[in-house]
Amino acid sequence: MKPGVDLLEEITKICQERNIHLGSIEAIGAVQKASIAFYNQTKRDYVIMTINEPLEMTSLTGNISIKDGKPFVHAHVTLADSTGNVYGGHLAPGTIVFACEFIIKTFDGLMLERRFDEDTGLSLWSLQE
Ligand code: ZN
Repeated sequence: MKPGVDLLEEITKICQERNIHLGSIEAIGAVQKASIAFYNQTKRDYVIMTINEPLEMTSLTGNISIKDGKPFVHAHVTLADSTGNVYGGHLAPGTIVFACEFIIKTFDGLMLERRFDEDTGLSLWSLQE
């Protein structure tokens, strides 16, 4: 990935261009700044946290499935600051890449599609035959 691209948008673009409908992703690298989210289970809404400093991407793990008919990326990320303190959460738009090494594994067969889940307020997987 080129420095300056939005991490989540870039992963999503790669998956959509290659029509990856089921897969997993892992990555390490560094970001110029970050935007991560925490899901408030009571309010059923994401709280966005912005960290405006360079960070090490010590871990990113996520999955790729289908939402609204298109490949959709769900990733969580752990980011360390210059003192080694770590932030973590749901990867949101606004995380800007400094450098990123990533691996996407793709799977055939099963179709996993996200649908609204009443119990959690989230879009979760439902199996398609
Ligand atoms: Zn999440």
